[in-house]
Amino acid sequence: MTDALATADAPADLVLTGGRIHLFDDAATAASSIAIRDGLVVAHDDDARTLAPRARRVIDLDGRTVLPGINDAHLHAAWLGARWPALFFGDHEASHDEDSGPLVTTNRERRAALQRAWRLLASLGITSYTEPGIGPGEDGGPTGCFGTSMLDTYLDLHREGVQTSRVTLLRLFGTIDGEGDLEAFRTGIQAPAPATDDRWLCIPGVKIFADGIPPMRTAWVREPYADGSSGALLTRGPDGALDAFRQMVRLAHDADLQVAVHATGDRSIAEFLSVLEEADAGPRRHPHYVVHADLAFDDLIERMRAIGVGAAVQPLIAAFTHAWASGTLGAERAARAWPLARMIDRGILTTVTSDAPIATPDWRASVDAAVRLLSEAGIADSTASRRALVRRMTVDAARQDGASEWKGTLSAGFVGDLCVLSADPLDPGTRVAGIDVDATVVGGRIVFERGTTPDVDAEAVAAEATA
Ligand SMILES: [Zn+2]
Repeated sequence: MTDALATADAPADLVLTGGRIHLFDDAATAASSIAIRDGLVVAHDDDARTLAPRARRVIDLDGRTVLPGINDAHLHAAWLGARWPALFFGDHEASHDEDSGPLVTTNRERRAALQRAWRLLASLGITSYTEPGIGPGEDGGPTGCFGTSMLDTYLDLHREGVQTSRVTLLRLFGTIDGEGDLEAFRTGIQAPAPATDDRWLCIPGVKIFADGIPPMRTAWVREPYADGSSGALLTRGPDGALDAFRQMVRLAHDADLQVAVHATGDRSIAEFLSVLEEADAGPRRHPHYVVHADLAFDDLIERMRAIGVGAAVQPLIAAFTHAWASGTLGAERAARAWPLARMIDRGILTTVTSDAPIATPDWRASVDAAVRLLSEAGIADSTASRRALVRRMTVDAARQDGASEWKGTLSAGFVGDLCVLSADPLDPGTRVAGIDVDATVVGGRIVFERGTTPDVDAEAVAAEATA
């Protein structure tokens, strides 16, 4: 492969050689070497090896695997950093009681929470994520993790240039997992998002909470639950919940904001789509999308496809709540819920995400859960099916970020965001959770090296011991 950029004289900042480097370009290329200069991929294979002798740093992969940096397209980093290692599902379940007061109150605590999350994500090979919902509706909120002051902390750290993760941040004008008021939303979106360097902190749109979750019977559904209830919208306004919801989506769309709607129930998803259909919405640089989309049945997936609406889904949450949701939805409907296989098959923009700290931010566990979800849908475990899943955490996630031209693959000219793994997660039968993340690189800079970078868990334990 010949890259014109490789002929430039300056030494490369980083060269990785002797491994299996999955570029995740359209041709599904695997290179054996890669070179990064000034934050960008400049060469592969022989051209990259030529740059090794003069490079500032060379990593001998010794047969190991490289993937593009993982992009978790729905992850509450501030909340995760404040709670870690406590999660809601999985190991360390809910060891923090939210009633015992806010997790963070001071600027120092907010900075510490974000920086702890960034160290944790770097140790996992994650180089980008979406922080889905920060704004004035959560000022004085119970956790302290989602209010305006957290947005200010993000902006401070962004301006200081200390980020080790690229962030897409959605503004929130209601409450997290709670009600949202139409007038507050209308006023809120009139204020422009702060100016930032989009490659590190991009603030393209808004998060709207439509409903709750199926196991709690709070997802708004077309067919009632076993007890006869149907859930409801969380939006509020003078002409009722549905009018408020429809107006919010339309206002944000007309203001050219990306709209991400927390919608698990099929009725909520249908109403979101109908507003966009009436607005003649089509493909956009920052696509609108449904967060969770648990009950996105076939007719809804076709409508999403027609107007370019994506879905950010969480296989780990599906695994943890499936049996519980069967009790409220009935077995037949629960069997059609979490239609990841269908979404991939129909080619809609789909991101596989953690929703951490709800589930672990460890994408390796998400891949394993997604492999099981696909196999339940009759899709055999293969390199192709695994590649399709990892695309959901790289290529499609970059598309959701409106960043397809510069991140998500390791093609020449793309940012040098990658992770080095002890084994290849694309090999069928591999338990991905058993693979080590050996190094993480963001913009050509090594932000984590196993055995060298201090362990974030050990740090948390030490902090607790001295508290
Ligand atoms: Zn969430």
